[in-house]
Amino acid sequence: MTVPTPPRPKKRLGQHFLIDPNIVRKILSVAALCPQDTVLEIGPGRGALTRPLCEAVSRVIAIELDPGLAAYLTQTCTQYTNLDLRVGDALEFSYESLPQGTVVVANLPYYVSTPLLFRLFEARNRIRLMILMLQLEVARRLVARPATPEYGALSVLGQYFADPVIAFTIPGTCFRPRPDVGSAVVCLPPRNNVLGNSTADEAFVQTVRAAFAHRRKTLVNSFRDAGIGLSDIHTALDMSGIDPRRRAETLTVSEFMALTEALHPA
Ligand code: SAM
Repeated sequence: MTVPTPPRPKKRLGQHFLIDPNIVRKILSVAALCPQDTVLEIGPGRGALTRPLCEAVSRVIAIELDPGLAAYLTQTCTQYTNLDLRVGDALEFSYESLPQGTVVVANLPYYVSTPLLFRLFEARNRIRLMILMLQLEVARRLVARPATPEYGALSVLGQYFADPVIAFTIPGTCFRPRPDVGSAVVCLPPRNNVLGNSTADEAFVQTVRAAFAHRRKTLVNSFRDAGIGLSDIHTALDMSGIDPRRRAETLTVSEFMALTEALHPA
């Protein structure tokens, strides 16, 4: 039987395929999968991760946007009866349908990695662990500490919804075609937050986004720009013990949580 030729890579879909088996092995080792696990893979591409995942766990749900690549995968993965391939946009996927304890392993398409991260954060009560390959710059922002240049809304939100850690970085030579940016594999075990419910999570996201909307402004000015009354801002800052002259980039995740509770009392 002739082996089908894979479709040509489409840059606009972030198609940079892993060609280094050592990196695939390292990703699997970081994921520490159990045979009974269900894995969700976003963007299986030509299957560099998909095939070893199918060999390691009981079920792999893989969502691929490119119908040409999905057809190629179907043709070349016939032996993997545990592969549940869905053709479509991972942004539209119903993450609530995932089995409890799903592990997400993905080399994400970088052009859409931040909105995908937020879809995964929303579904984190179903997810045991996320092992995601991301653009290095995004990975550094996710793990950044307060008062560093990389620290911003993504750091606070990423560290509220999960405990991100950079597992290792990957040179461009490990992909074909080579990306113009660096890459890193990040482990994100989801967090069970103190604030907890989805309304409180939404309030947290709003508070963080408003605080960072103007990075160089004080918290008071940023919240005033977001339409919050001056006396409410001062009361909330006072209740959370935060100096009104501070800027968003100096606040820890816990301080943002206290501030959210003070600005949005239950
Ligand atoms: N997993 C493969 C690998 O490591 O070689 C491919 C990774 S490549 C960086 C990203 C993959 O995501 C591509 O196959 C691309 O077609 C797919 N993709 C892009 N946008 C997508 C979306 N919105 N939903 C699902 N898949 C998407």
